[in-house]
Amino acid sequence: MPIVRRGMRGTENPSSSSRLQVLTSHLLTPQTAMASEKEAALAAVPSDSPTIFDKIINKEIPSNVVYEDDNVLAFRDISPQAPTHILIIPKVKDGLTGISKMHTPVNGTSDYTGQETITFCFVARSWLRRHCEILGRLLYTAKLVAKQEGLDDGYRLVINDGPKGCQSVYHLHVHLLGGRQMNWPPG
Ligand code: AMP
Repeated sequence: MPIVRRGMRGTENPSSSSRLQVLTSHLLTPQTAMASEKEAALAAVPSDSPTIFDKIINKEIPSNVVYEDDNVLAFRDISPQAPTHILIIPKVKDGLTGISKMHTPVNGTSDYTGQETITFCFVARSWLRRHCEILGRLLYTAKLVAKQEGLDDGYRLVINDGPKGCQSVYHLHVHLLGGRQMNWPPG
């Protein structure tokens, strides 16, 4: 059964440090916020290790959760880039540090024996199915949360991938941004 929480930004169990981080993020100009996001992304080392999002999932650090079910967690971004800025993450990332880690079916199996190929394809298909299901859930949850947030006139979904894509946390996530007119190109 999904749990939905709609508390005001930063009001649910914030520790003094997270309150300070939220305050700081509000004092930043869009330009400085953007620059620090880029710096954070360039400083981040792509890795499969646990991230700050695991601590949020395990409730080891506070977050402002807006939606939760058995598979997915959605919470407000600590450094919002729009009036509504929510992150949607899988509770189990299954190797998906980013979208580029989605399983790619292997074409050339000619080096394998018949049985190896069958096993290989079976495992590959099972990974692909799981990864597609995770991504589908994230996108479906984004749609539910957008509705819940009243973003009826539109919104933007973003998945940053790798250093050039400005990814700073290596746990697959979808950004839901709304509440203002978006621009294009995104920059
Ligand atoms: P990305 O740059 O696409 O990897 O996005 C990571 C996002 O996580 C950034 O927008 C950060 O502001 C956000 N973030 C990092 N730590 C926290 C946190 N403790 N609570 C909420 N959002 C966070």
